Amino acid sequence: MSDPAFYSGLQQKLETLKTEGLFKPERVLASRQGAEVVAADGRTLINMCANNYLGLSGDLETQQAAEAALQKYGYGLSSVRFICGTQTVHKELEKKLSDFLGTEDTILYAAAFDANGGVFEPLFDENDAIISDALNHASIIDGVRLCKAARYRYANNDMADLETQLQAAASAGKRHKIIVTDGVFSMDGTIAQLDRIVELAQKYGALTMIDESHASGFMGRTGRGTHEHCGVIGKIDIITGTLGKALGGAMGGFTSGRREVIETLRQKSRPYLFSNTLAPMIAGASLAVLERIGKSTELRDRLHENTAYFRREIERIGFTIKPGTHPVVPVMLFDAPVAQKFAARMFELGVLLSGFFYPVVPMGQARVRVQLSAAHTREQLDKVLAAFEQAGRELGIINAA
Ligand SMILES: *Cc1c(COP(=O)(O)O)cnc(C)c1O
Repeated sequence: MSDPAFYSGLQQKLETLKTEGLFKPERVLASRQGAEVVAADGRTLINMCANNYLGLSGDLETQQAAEAALQKYGYGLSSVRFICGTQTVHKELEKKLSDFLGTEDTILYAAAFDANGGVFEPLFDENDAIISDALNHASIIDGVRLCKAARYRYANNDMADLETQLQAAASAGKRHKIIVTDGVFSMDGTIAQLDRIVELAQKYGALTMIDESHASGFMGRTGRGTHEHCGVIGKIDIITGTLGKALGGAMGGFTSGRREVIETLRQKSRPYLFSNTLAPMIAGASLAVLERIGKSTELRDRLHENTAYFRREIERIGFTIKPGTHPVVPVMLFDAPVAQKFAARMFELGVLLSGFFYPVVPMGQARVRVQLSAAHTREQLDKVLAAFEQAGRELGIINAA
């Protein structure tokens, strides 16, 4: 407490965030997660901003599976995995994830942030090259920073630039090259072109890695992910992902791939070696979620029906969206203050969603992001669309009918 300038400096930076409109207040919920949530002030809102794609976060079956695992395995382990923090439920979940993803083995982490943070440094060094999409998630960027490999960045989803970067890495004489991309980019709902990425990887003798946080559980015919969607199951070297979005929504992450890779991570990956094991109730609930979505594509189908309906209707009302098929639907408002006003008005109208503007998205690309869930009913979506129409007219974004 002997450096007052430190604290006043922080205070000043916080004030700047507020005056620039970049301060992120926490929205406090008084209910469980779901298609509808209760705000701390007691108001019920339709929730359009959770990563709760399959609607399993506040779901009773998920909860009961967690309760059963809690009963059997207890609350926690007070240990990292390798000392005394591995239970049968962790091994079962790793096996189940490998089967689901079509890989040989899987290692669990406390978060996908840790999976990405701990994947590069044990596998690559200064002789190697990491070729990373410019819009990859912050945890990939941090993971790459912790590793000595040379970094090459390609423009988002730009296959010509990816090839240029592969050529640059090859001319630099790099030993191993790995192309790294989010399977789906969360700001735009863009799906990575994995078929073309795999082709380029084969052409240049490179490895491939995808982060499936916005895909696992619902992309592809049986929900296995972007690699299923793009027809490249078995052709991706490393898959990371989260248990904290579609696959239950509590927390937890994983890295999946060839046996040699996963064994190496168990020996060397720092967030795995030096951080506590995933709570057994989360492992148990995640297992139940994977069993459930393995038996029926009902939730995944409902999600995609909701997505198609919302995408069609929001355009019919007169809004501009980024085209696509993913349940992330960016409704473009272009202007930052308009996006802010719009999100605030939607909140008053009983709809929870997020506005995004520069620097989170490019200048002039301000938007509100809608995320569909299997848990949304048609009635709820119609209420949301009516609110969009009303707010859109009030703010002059769409023409009065
Ligand atoms: C959400 C997200 C993560 C982080 O997942 P956690 O399990 O919450 O740490 C990592 N990568 C991507 C692409 C994500 O969207």
